[in-house]
Amino acid sequence: MTVTWPTRMDHDTAAYWQGLSDGKLVLCRCKQCETWIHPPRGRCPECWSDDIGHQSPGGQATLYSYLIQPTAPKQPPEVIGWAELDEQKELFIVAPVEGMPLDNVEIGARLTLGFREQGGTNLPVFRTGDTK
Ligand SMILES: [Zn+2]
Repeated sequence: MTVTWPTRMDHDTAAYWQGLSDGKLVLCRCKQCETWIHPPRGRCPECWSDDIGHQSPGGQATLYSYLIQPTAPKQPPEVIGWAELDEQKELFIVAPVEGMPLDNVEIGARLTLGFREQGGTNLPVFRTGDTK
């Protein structure tokens, strides 16, 4: 299992970054077999098709794993979550989890996708709880 995130704009990641700029999470999705693909890439890992479209997931997820990451000096560290989106097994978004106590991180907790403005763009964050 590879869990990474896009770090720069290129042909495959342009829709992802444009989506964040617009306040949406836009992921690659294979038009042939409907597999969601993240991080973005130009070929489906399941059926090898290069017929790749883009779509926004619903935003509900489950906390799969996490780490506690220091932030700035004198600021509290934060929980960085590996969140499995409801759309597909092992479709992970790695993002800060807001509202979860550092001493009581709950694997399996239900999360809802949101966004945080940072460095001139929106970055994904998760907040505890379901919206549905
Ligand atoms: Zn496919």
